[in-house]
Amino acid sequence: MPTILPIVTGKDTDILHRSTDRVKDPLQSDIQNLLPVMFDSLRAANGIGLAAPQIDQSIRLAVVEVENERLVLVNPKITSFSREKILFEEGCLSLPGQFFLIERSERITVRYQDETGKEKKRKATGLLAIVIQHEVDHLDGILIADRYERDKRKRRT
Ligand SMILES: [Zn+2]
Repeated sequence: MPTILPIVTGKDTDILHRSTDRVKDPLQSDIQNLLPVMFDSLRAANGIGLAAPQIDQSIRLAVVEVENERLVLVNPKITSFSREKILFEEGCLSLPGQFFLIERSERITVRYQDETGKEKKRKATGLLAIVIQHEVDHLDGILIADRYERDKRKRRT
């Protein structure tokens, strides 16, 4: 039986706006036990990405499942953003029924540790790049509703 955690929702919920703590050791049993639960919860919600604050854990950890690719991102950091942007209507499991047109870099490079603690670096484009940027935003306490408002203010000035 998969274990499915409830997803924290609401644009004013405190934990979704907090910056997260680094994961010290991905091999720690609490992290190792959390990973399959995160993937089960993600699938149960029909999502493509889930960040730890969305299951009430304020740590730098996210899982992504998109285009048959499954990624565990421990302490991810985006190290390069392309100047070419794409606009995409994004949803979020924490903001059910809400969609926001968000501008993101079309290509990124992300450094992270995988579930074995190994340091990785990879390039991503298109939907995968969008999802990774969305999840890293979660780890910095930023929701798409916040980013949308911020970009709108920027466009006005
Ligand atoms: Zn989200």
